[in-house]
Parts: sequence; C-alpha cells; structure tokens
Amino acid sequence: MVRVTVLGSGSKGNCTVVSTSRTRIVLDAGLSCREIVKRMRFSGEDPEKLDAVLITHEHQDHVQGLSVLARRWNVPVYATQATLAAWRAWVTPRTTMGLNAWLELRRQQYAESLKAGVYGENDLAAGPAPDDVSLEIPSLAAAEQAPIQPDVRHSDTIVAEHADQGHSNKEVGALSEPEEVLPSNSAASADPAYLPCVEHFRAGISLDIGDIHVTPFTIPHDAADPVGFVLQAEGVRVVVATDLGYLAPNVRMHLRGADLLIIESNHDVEMLRDGPYPWIVKQRVLSRVGHLSNDALGEYLSSEYDGAARYVILAHISESNNLPALARSSAERALEGRMGVLRNNVLLASQHEPLKPIDL
Ligand SMILES: [Zn+2]
Ligand SMILES: [Zn+2]
Repeated sequence: MVRVTVLGSGSKGNCTVVSTSRTRIVLDAGLSCREIVKRMRFSGEDPEKLDAVLITHEHQDHVQGLSVLARRWNVPVYATQATLAAWRAWVTPRTTMGLNAWLELRRQQYAESLKAGVYGENDLAAGPAPDDVSLEIPSLAAAEQAPIQPDVRHSDTIVAEHADQGHSNKEVGALSEPEEVLPSNSAASADPAYLPCVEHFRAGISLDIGDIHVTPFTIPHDAADPVGFVLQAEGVRVVVATDLGYLAPNVRMHLRGADLLIIESNHDVEMLRDGPYPWIVKQRVLSRVGHLSNDALGEYLSSEYDGAARYVILAHISESNNLPALARSSAERALEGRMGVLRNNVLLASQHEPLKPIDL
C-alpha cells in the first residue's frame, strides 16, 4: 500500500508525505519543522521514521522548515545541486561587502574624519568625494548593509506577503517561528546551511529511496533548477507537479498513467488581473515560469489528460487570487464525463490543514 498525505499546500508552505510499509519520504519542507511534525503526527505518520526529504526548488514556501527538519530528525536531503546551492546562498548571511556598502562606509569614515579635524581646508577641496556616488544611491547602500532578504524570484511567500498584508493566521505565524538550534558547541550550529546528509539528483535520472522509485523531471518555473516528481512503488504511480508556468511537453509525458496526481491550480486569471498584487508580481505569476491557472489546468484535463488517476489533488491554490470553489468547478467541468466512483476524484489541498491520508 502506498499512502499519500498532503500536509499543506499554498504560497505559505508546501509539504507532502508519501509512504510505503518500508519507506517514508517528505516532498518539500515548506512549513516550519514544528508544523510538519505536528501535521505528520496528526495524520498518523511518524517523523522519527523519515527516510528522506526531497526538494522541488528553493523557494521559501518549499524549504522553510528544511534545515531544522533535517537536523532535528537527522534526515537526508535530496535535491539538485543547483537547488541546494541557491538555498545555501539564501540562508547564508553575506560575509563580503558590496560596492555600495563599501562606498557608504568610506563616506561615513570621511565625514567623521572631517568632524575630527583630520583634514584641513585644502584636503577637503581635493579630498575623495564618495558622497556623489553614495548619495545618488542611498537606498542601495542601505540595502547592501541590511540582512539579506529573499527577493520576489526567491520566494512564492513574498507574493503572498505583497497581497496578504494584515492577514494574520496562527498557523502562518508558526511558519516563521525561530529555528531550533543545535548545541552551541556544535560546529554545525554556526552554519545555517548545514545539513547532516545531502544527496544530489538530476532531473531525468531516476533514483531509489527504499522501495520508492523516484523520477525527478524538469518543470518551467523561475527557480534555479525546479523539478516535479514521479514516485512509483507497489505498482502505484504518484505524480507531483506544482509551481509551473505551463504544462511543458515533458511534464505532460510524466503525467501519463498517474494513479494519483498532485497538480497546481494556482489562480483564476481574472482574479489575479483584478487582484491586489503589484503589476510586476502579476506578470511573474502569469509568465511561462510562473504558476498554472485554473484555466490552463482545465484545458489540459479536458483534452490531453488520460483520465487514469483515481485522485486529482488540486494544489498550490492561491488564497488571494483564487477560490477553492472556482478551482474545483473548473477541474470538475473539465473532467465531466470522466468522473466515476473510482476515478478522478477531485480533492483540494489546503494551506492550513492536512488532507486525509489517501491509500492506494
Ligand atoms: Zn516556486
Ligand atoms: Zn511554491
């Protein structure tokens, strides 16, 4: 038996557990470690028996709890080299000074030395004038010194933050809880990118984790090296494809023959266009490396989709630019005529609570 439990899905965090009697893996660690563990236990999954965490891409809503989960439960992390490098760059504080920060520092030093009377009148006239540069770009100079923050390209959560100002939710608050730390004498505690065990995979090249056969495949999304997954065990095929701007031919190929499909139905195009996101974020979501709309998924489900899946789970549903009822009706309309007792049951993944475990 293969069991699939979507612990949460959306722009504030994604995490799914797939388990057999021998193997238990987590796909993405986009909720906080605490929330992942809480939801796993609620769903009857034992976090102590985790064999692997697989990461689709480095956006915050897919890696938020990664380091804590991997350290706390000593779980190997599987990702592409580029994804892990991007994640490391994101979590590691900058140690080198950018040009603008350097100019700003020099400007301050110069101003202080003037005050202290180090320079005379002539020195002032002939002295260095970094002000010209740094005053032109004060915000950049300040930004260089500020703690590094993920930009729009680095995080789907940023999208949510743009739109969900004032939105408060206890569970969402838990997503950004402080990290648990290792004992202070551990060298690992000094490195925020430390992971106890890392395995690299490459899109298109399958690997086995216990008795689960995993095939990562490339998806079109604005991350370093984003992938979807085909998971096969005990004759069951589970396909996960979220965070993709469109259904590229290779994605369509991997979707064939799925027994359970976790697929993105991110936004309603009209709601997104009329919605609160800044223009540049709207462009990003709508782009070929953004997110899949209800319409784009509906078009696929009504045409090329083979109708084989017992369950179609609509995932990564936007809380600002979509409604669960819209996503559901779009998918069900597209599947009309194919809805049977045993096939194409449409389920909606939620941001705030796990879906009931599905046994296949
Ligand atoms: Zn993403
Ligand atoms: Zn995402």
